[in-house]
Amino acid sequence: MSGAHTVEVITIGDELLLGHTIDTNAAFISRELASQGFRVVARTTVGDVPSAIRDAVAAGLERAEIVICTGGLGPTQDDFTKSVVAELFGTELELDAQLLEQLRERFRRRGITMAERNVCQAEVPKGATVLPNPRGTAPGLALTRADGRCCILLPGVPQEMRGLTMEQVLPFLLQRASGIKPHPIQYHTIRTTGIAESAVAEQVAGLLRALEPLTLAFLPGFAGTDLRITSWGELDEVTADSAINAAAIKIRELLDAHVYGSNDDDLAKVVGDLLRQHRLTVAVAESCTGGLLGKRLTAIPGSSDYFVGGIISYSDRLKQQLLGVRAETLREHGAVSEAVVQEMVRGVQQSTGADCGIAITGIAGPGGGSAEKPVGTVWVACAIDDAVRTRRFVLPGDREEIRERAAQAGLALLWKTLLTENVITKSASTASLVQ
Ligand code: ATP
Repeated sequence: MSGAHTVEVITIGDELLLGHTIDTNAAFISRELASQGFRVVARTTVGDVPSAIRDAVAAGLERAEIVICTGGLGPTQDDFTKSVVAELFGTELELDAQLLEQLRERFRRRGITMAERNVCQAEVPKGATVLPNPRGTAPGLALTRADGRCCILLPGVPQEMRGLTMEQVLPFLLQRASGIKPHPIQYHTIRTTGIAESAVAEQVAGLLRALEPLTLAFLPGFAGTDLRITSWGELDEVTADSAINAAAIKIRELLDAHVYGSNDDDLAKVVGDLLRQHRLTVAVAESCTGGLLGKRLTAIPGSSDYFVGGIISYSDRLKQQLLGVRAETLREHGAVSEAVVQEMVRGVQQSTGADCGIAITGIAGPGGGSAEKPVGTVWVACAIDDAVRTRRFVLPGDREEIRERAAQAGLALLWKTLLTENVITKSASTASLVQ
């Protein structure tokens, strides 16, 4: 895009001001617009107060050519954004019959009678462009002033806001900027685990130039680092599709051992598919994850084909009683140790009769760390028949993040082992014996 158009992001909601909700919307919008060459010059947050919203939008339109607001588009008494901005633009709200019908249909499909209160969500400022929102009840709206400055209103719900930004707002703004209707934005995500974001970036650094006009975004999360390849509308659909495929192949080659899937793939499903393919069963022994690993595995439909169950052995006593961990192992090495996680995984294999086991023991914090074993220290073991593999991690984040990362690390260890070891597929009769 030529010439940097300026943008201000305004996020609206008392819960943001009070700190009860972290303002992830502003970060998302800033990141996505900046990656398209827009210059985000300011970010403002205001509460659910009409005068504060009016002042913020008016000031934003002085500072930037484009103002993007999120929040306050719902049907409740504290949702003022649409009426305040309509007034500021000197226009009024009018009922959009088509939107109202879509809204009623949405409620009908869910078997709910639409409340009269929701009718206002089909009201649109006269002259505004409606940005359809298939994920929710409030559409996005774009209002443009005579001088070309424009204000875009989006719902606050992050999932809706994200979908609208990618599918509606960016194409709308890019078309406005270039005067040419862009092709649809297309993207493909490659999911990796067991490799840090910086290492991923280093491995693919040499590729970035060759990918143009596609862009590559690095998205770290508890499940690992995702890489999103995006075609921003410069290429037509077919060309974009093949360029994205070619890029994905190159990236997969570079990161091979760490790529477990694409788009919405879940490592628990990838592991489950491998277990099913090899006719193997699995059981889990969990300490610091308190059942998260079992939850991940059982969230996959059909997991009863391979998942036999698990033991949450939080206390030392239960580790001994249910998993056969020896008292002297606990005394000599401590509950968070390689020796204990090995005995845990063996114990759960033996007590459940499963072919494979995953065991996790760690310090999720915030207390309980030491110089030798800081918070985040996690031992993971996996066993397939007689072979046991262990790994130690020092995981970043707060208690919840450490627990999520630990569960993912447990799945990743079994996944890698299933891929790399010479795993023997059980015959159907043996498999049924084990179950
Ligand atoms: P609704 O139709 O649900 O009323 P809305 O457009 O009025 O949508 P809000 O009511 O302001 O939006 O927020 C809906 C949800 O989205 C709330 O759970 C809120 O915490 C969350 N949310 C709102 N703004 C943000 C933000 N800037 N960052 C992250 N989450 C947000």
